Amino acid sequence: RLPLAKLQEIIKWDAHGLVPAVVQDADSKDVLMVAYMNSESLQKSIVTGDTWFWSRSREELWHKGATSGNTQRITDLRYDCDGDTLLVLVKRSGPACHTGEDNCFYRSAAAVQSEGAVSAAASSTSRFEVLGELEQIIKERYEERPEGAYTTYLFEKGIDKILKKVGEETAEAIIAAKNGDNDELRLEVSDLIYHLLVLLRERNLPLDDIMSELDRRHERPRRD
Ligand code: AMP
Ligand code: ZN
Ligand code: ZN
Ligand code: ZN
Repeated sequence: RLPLAKLQEIIKWDAHGLVPAVVQDADSKDVLMVAYMNSESLQKSIVTGDTWFWSRSREELWHKGATSGNTQRITDLRYDCDGDTLLVLVKRSGPACHTGEDNCFYRSAAAVQSEGAVSAAASSTSRFEVLGELEQIIKERYEERPEGAYTTYLFEKGIDKILKKVGEETAEAIIAAKNGDNDELRLEVSDLIYHLLVLLRERNLPLDDIMSELDRRHERPRRD
């Protein structure tokens, strides 16, 4: 354990006597927030084990969670290669952001750059374009039943065969995940998604309906 005085010396305080502190969730490793510490808040953080910062807007020491109750217990305090940034690993008791969001980085620059929600949706569409294409190919197989195609075989066998495959691929994905084998998991989840799309076609349920359902859930205001 580094003596506090030595640590204070190592840290390269900026012209205002501050150092940025990146706060990270010790369990999930999510980056939660960035705030500034001065010498006194660093000392208070180390002595109390809670995060203390310097509020530049209020110009006062700030015990994170003092009003919201969402305090943070420090499990590890690190500094970067050139000593100009702190990394604070914490166990937290609630959202890190004063907006109530889980962490402060809930907004995507990509969404802003592509001008708002509509383009953001479009860019995520292109990212998952392959799903729509796969749905289309499966639809063609369903209608044309080309001989020798595995998809044709599934439709000929019928719903019970398709459901059995969905079950098998689910079990295989579970096993791959349990084994910690991501190469295998990638293959099995791909198999599973393909068979789910075959199931949706068989049941005549459009992928769009699934996407809309997911979208509705994600737009619902968070309450936890
Ligand atoms: P708290 O420290 O959670 O009790 O919140 C007290 C005040 O600190 C809030 O009203 C905000 O002004 C500010 N604050 C809290 N959390 C953050 C944060 N993650 N980023 C910026 N300001 C914050
Ligand atoms: Zn470095
Ligand atoms: Zn640095
Ligand atoms: Zn925030």
